[in-house]
Amino acid sequence: MENINNIYEILLKKFGPQGWWPLSKGRMQTRHHSGPPKDDHDRWEIIVGAILTQNTAWTNVEKAIENLNRAKLLSIDKIRKVPVKNIAGLIRPAGYYNQKAERLKIVAEYFSKHFKKRTIPSREELLKVKGIGPETADSILLYTFEQPYFVVDAYTRRVFSRLGLINKDADYEEIQKFFMENLPKNKDTIKMYKEYHALIVELAKRNCRTKPICDLCLMKCSK
Ligand code: SF4
Repeated sequence: MENINNIYEILLKKFGPQGWWPLSKGRMQTRHHSGPPKDDHDRWEIIVGAILTQNTAWTNVEKAIENLNRAKLLSIDKIRKVPVKNIAGLIRPAGYYNQKAERLKIVAEYFSKHFKKRTIPSREELLKVKGIGPETADSILLYTFEQPYFVVDAYTRRVFSRLGLINKDADYEEIQKFFMENLPKNKDTIKMYKEYHALIVELAKRNCRTKPICDLCLMKCSK
Protein backbone atom coordinates (compact mmCIF):
# COMPACT_ATOMS: atom_id res chain seq x y z
CA MET A 1 0.00 0.00 0.00
CA GLU A 2 1.32 3.44 -0.94
CA ASN A 3 1.74 6.07 1.78
CA ILE A 4 0.09 9.46 1.55
CA ASN A 5 3.26 11.15 0.29
CA ASN A 6 3.60 8.68 -2.58
CA ILE A 7 -0.09 8.97 -3.39
CA TYR A 8 0.31 12.73 -3.70
CA GLU A 9 3.21 12.30 -6.13
CA ILE A 10 1.30 9.71 -8.18
CA LEU A 11 -1.80 11.92 -8.45
CA LEU A 12 0.23 15.03 -9.27
CA LYS A 13 2.13 13.20 -11.99
CA LYS A 14 -1.06 11.80 -13.48
CA PHE A 15 -3.41 14.80 -13.26
CA GLY A 16 -0.94 17.70 -13.12
CA PRO A 17 -1.26 20.78 -10.90
CA GLN A 18 -4.90 21.69 -10.37
CA GLY A 19 -4.24 25.29 -9.34
CA TRP A 20 -7.06 25.59 -6.82
CA TRP A 21 -8.96 27.61 -5.71
CA PRO A 22 -10.81 28.17 -9.04
CA LEU A 23 -11.57 31.89 -9.41
CA SER A 24 -13.79 33.58 -11.92
CA LYS A 25 -12.00 36.92 -12.31
CA GLY A 26 -15.33 38.51 -13.13
CA ARG A 27 -15.97 36.09 -15.95
CA MET A 28 -16.49 32.38 -15.82
CA GLN A 29 -12.96 31.23 -16.36
CA THR A 30 -13.12 29.14 -13.26
CA ARG A 31 -10.19 26.83 -13.88
CA HIS A 32 -6.43 27.03 -13.67
CA HIS A 33 -5.99 30.18 -11.72
CA SER A 34 -3.03 29.05 -9.70
CA GLY A 35 -1.20 30.51 -6.78
CA PRO A 36 -2.44 32.54 -3.86
CA PRO A 37 -5.35 34.99 -4.02
CA LYS A 38 -4.07 38.29 -5.33
CA ASP A 39 -6.41 40.72 -3.62
CA ASP A 40 -9.47 41.01 -1.38
CA HIS A 41 -11.77 40.37 -4.33
CA ASP A 42 -10.12 36.97 -4.80
CA ARG A 43 -10.25 36.32 -1.05
CA TRP A 44 -13.93 37.17 -0.88
CA GLU A 45 -14.75 35.01 -3.91
CA ILE A 46 -13.08 32.01 -2.23
CA ILE A 47 -15.13 32.58 0.92
CA VAL A 48 -18.33 32.86 -1.17
CA GLY A 49 -17.43 29.63 -2.99
CA ALA A 50 -16.70 27.84 0.30
CA ILE A 51 -20.18 28.72 1.57
CA LEU A 52 -22.00 28.01 -1.70
CA THR A 53 -20.37 24.64 -2.23
CA GLN A 54 -21.86 23.23 0.98
CA ASN A 55 -24.02 20.23 0.00
CA THR A 56 -23.76 20.85 -3.73
CA ALA A 57 -21.52 20.21 -6.72
CA TRP A 58 -19.03 22.87 -7.84
CA THR A 59 -20.76 23.19 -11.23
CA ASN A 60 -23.79 24.62 -9.40
CA VAL A 61 -21.56 27.02 -7.49
CA GLU A 62 -20.11 28.27 -10.78
CA LYS A 63 -23.60 29.18 -11.99
CA ALA A 64 -24.39 31.03 -8.75
CA ILE A 65 -21.08 32.92 -8.88
CA GLU A 66 -21.72 33.80 -12.51
CA ASN A 67 -25.09 35.27 -11.48
CA LEU A 68 -23.47 37.30 -8.70
CA ASN A 69 -20.83 38.53 -11.16
CA ARG A 70 -23.43 39.54 -13.74
CA ALA A 71 -25.41 41.42 -11.08
CA LYS A 72 -22.15 43.04 -9.93
CA LEU A 73 -22.71 41.74 -6.43
CA LEU A 74 -19.57 39.66 -5.97
CA SER A 75 -18.18 42.10 -3.46
CA ILE A 76 -18.12 41.93 0.31
CA ASP A 77 -19.59 45.43 0.69
CA LYS A 78 -22.40 44.81 -1.77
CA ILE A 79 -23.37 41.53 -0.12
CA ARG A 80 -23.53 43.38 3.20
CA LYS A 81 -25.86 46.00 1.75
CA VAL A 82 -28.32 44.13 -0.47
CA PRO A 83 -31.36 42.31 0.98
CA VAL A 84 -31.20 38.55 1.55
CA LYS A 85 -33.93 37.93 -1.02
CA ASN A 86 -31.90 39.56 -3.82
CA ILE A 87 -28.92 37.35 -3.04
CA ALA A 88 -31.11 34.26 -2.68
CA GLY A 89 -32.54 34.76 -6.19
CA LEU A 90 -29.08 34.92 -7.71
CA ILE A 91 -27.56 31.95 -5.90
CA ARG A 92 -30.55 29.69 -6.47
CA PRO A 93 -28.51 27.21 -8.63
CA ALA A 94 -26.37 26.36 -5.56
CA GLY A 95 -29.38 25.04 -3.62
CA TYR A 96 -30.46 25.92 -0.04
CA TYR A 97 -30.43 29.45 -1.43
CA ASN A 98 -32.32 31.21 1.37
CA GLN A 99 -30.10 29.69 4.03
CA LYS A 100 -26.94 30.32 2.00
CA ALA A 101 -27.95 33.93 1.27
CA GLU A 102 -28.32 34.53 5.01
CA ARG A 103 -24.96 32.90 5.61
CA LEU A 104 -23.31 35.09 3.00
CA LYS A 105 -24.64 38.18 4.77
CA ILE A 106 -23.32 36.90 8.12
CA VAL A 107 -19.87 36.03 6.79
CA ALA A 108 -19.66 39.32 4.83
CA GLU A 109 -20.24 41.19 8.07
CA TYR A 110 -17.73 39.02 9.88
CA PHE A 111 -14.94 39.13 7.29
CA SER A 112 -15.27 42.83 6.47
CA LYS A 113 -13.67 43.56 9.86
CA HIS A 114 -10.81 41.15 9.18
CA PHE A 115 -10.28 42.53 5.68
CA LYS A 116 -10.13 46.10 6.98
CA LYS A 117 -7.71 45.29 9.80
CA ARG A 118 -5.71 42.81 7.66
CA THR A 119 -6.17 40.16 10.35
CA ILE A 120 -6.58 36.41 9.99
CA PRO A 121 -9.27 34.71 12.08
CA SER A 122 -8.32 31.71 14.18
CA ARG A 123 -9.91 28.35 13.41
CA GLU A 124 -11.68 28.40 16.78
CA GLU A 125 -13.13 31.82 16.04
CA LEU A 126 -14.24 30.79 12.54
CA LEU A 127 -16.07 27.74 13.88
CA LYS A 128 -18.23 30.01 16.01
CA VAL A 129 -19.59 31.83 12.94
CA LYS A 130 -23.03 30.58 11.93
CA GLY A 131 -22.81 28.44 8.82
CA ILE A 132 -19.10 27.70 9.10
CA GLY A 133 -18.23 24.09 9.96
CA PRO A 134 -14.80 22.42 9.92
CA GLU A 135 -14.59 21.85 6.15
CA THR A 136 -15.66 25.40 5.32
CA ALA A 137 -13.38 26.86 8.00
CA ASP A 138 -10.37 24.93 6.73
CA SER A 139 -11.13 25.77 3.08
CA ILE A 140 -11.22 29.45 4.02
CA LEU A 141 -8.08 29.25 6.16
CA LEU A 142 -6.10 27.33 3.55
CA TYR A 143 -7.21 28.95 0.30
CA THR A 144 -8.12 32.47 1.45
CA PHE A 145 -5.58 33.12 4.19
CA GLU A 146 -2.90 30.57 3.28
CA GLN A 147 -2.86 28.90 6.67
CA PRO A 148 -1.67 25.26 6.95
CA TYR A 149 -4.93 23.39 7.51
CA PHE A 150 -5.66 20.26 5.47
CA VAL A 151 -9.21 20.26 4.09
CA VAL A 152 -11.18 17.06 4.58
CA ASP A 153 -14.31 16.45 2.54
CA ALA A 154 -16.51 13.51 1.62
CA TYR A 155 -14.18 12.66 -1.28
CA THR A 156 -11.17 12.50 1.08
CA ARG A 157 -13.03 10.14 3.37
CA ARG A 158 -14.23 7.96 0.48
CA VAL A 159 -10.90 7.68 -1.35
CA PHE A 160 -8.66 7.14 1.67
CA SER A 161 -10.96 4.67 3.38
CA ARG A 162 -11.07 2.67 0.16
CA LEU A 163 -7.28 2.88 0.02
CA GLY A 164 -7.30 1.39 3.52
CA LEU A 165 -5.49 4.33 5.09
CA ILE A 166 -8.29 5.72 7.25
CA ASN A 167 -11.41 4.37 8.88
CA LYS A 168 -14.51 5.46 6.94
CA ASP A 169 -16.20 6.31 10.24
CA ALA A 170 -13.32 8.42 11.56
CA ASP A 171 -14.35 11.95 12.48
CA TYR A 172 -13.20 15.06 10.66
CA GLU A 173 -10.47 16.03 13.13
CA GLU A 174 -9.05 12.51 13.15
CA ILE A 175 -8.74 12.41 9.36
CA GLN A 176 -7.25 15.90 9.26
CA LYS A 177 -4.72 14.91 11.93
CA PHE A 178 -3.73 11.86 9.87
CA PHE A 179 -2.84 14.07 6.90
CA MET A 180 -1.25 16.88 8.86
CA GLU A 181 0.92 14.56 10.94
CA ASN A 182 2.11 12.51 7.98
CA LEU A 183 2.69 15.13 5.30
CA PRO A 184 5.99 17.04 5.39
CA LYS A 185 6.17 20.44 7.06
CA ASN A 186 8.31 22.79 5.05
CA LYS A 187 8.04 25.93 2.91
CA ASP A 188 5.83 24.05 0.42
CA THR A 189 3.34 22.64 2.92
CA ILE A 190 0.55 25.10 2.14
CA LYS A 191 0.99 24.68 -1.61
CA MET A 192 0.92 20.90 -1.13
CA TYR A 193 -2.24 20.98 1.03
CA LYS A 194 -3.99 23.04 -1.64
CA GLU A 195 -2.93 20.76 -4.46
CA TYR A 196 -3.53 17.53 -2.60
CA HIS A 197 -7.12 18.41 -1.78
CA ALA A 198 -7.79 19.32 -5.41
CA LEU A 199 -6.13 16.12 -6.65
CA ILE A 200 -8.29 14.00 -4.33
CA VAL A 201 -11.38 15.70 -5.74
CA GLU A 202 -10.15 14.95 -9.26
CA LEU A 203 -9.56 11.26 -8.46
CA ALA A 204 -12.98 10.99 -6.84
CA LYS A 205 -14.68 12.57 -9.83
CA ARG A 206 -12.83 10.55 -12.45
CA ASN A 207 -12.64 7.14 -10.82
CA CYS A 208 -13.40 6.87 -7.15
CA ARG A 209 -17.08 7.67 -7.56
CA THR A 210 -19.87 6.32 -5.36
CA LYS A 211 -19.66 3.32 -7.66
CA PRO A 212 -15.90 3.22 -8.29
CA ILE A 213 -14.38 2.69 -11.73
CA CYS A 214 -11.39 0.71 -10.47
CA ASP A 215 -10.40 -0.80 -13.84
CA LEU A 216 -9.34 2.60 -15.14
CA CYS A 217 -7.89 3.89 -11.88
CA LEU A 218 -4.19 4.42 -11.28
CA MET A 219 -4.51 3.43 -7.62
CA LYS A 220 -4.38 -0.21 -6.73
CA CYS A 221 -6.75 -0.68 -3.83
CA SER A 222 -9.50 -2.39 -5.88
CA LYS A 223 -11.95 -2.23 -2.97
S1 SF4 B 1 -8.88 1.65 -7.30
FE1 SF4 B 1 -11.10 1.96 -7.11
S2 SF4 B 1 -11.51 2.20 -4.92
FE2 SF4 B 1 -9.29 2.50 -5.25
S3 SF4 B 1 -9.02 4.73 -5.49
FE3 SF4 B 1 -9.30 3.85 -7.54
S4 SF4 B 1 -11.50 3.97 -7.97
FE4 SF4 B 1 -11.21 4.26 -5.74
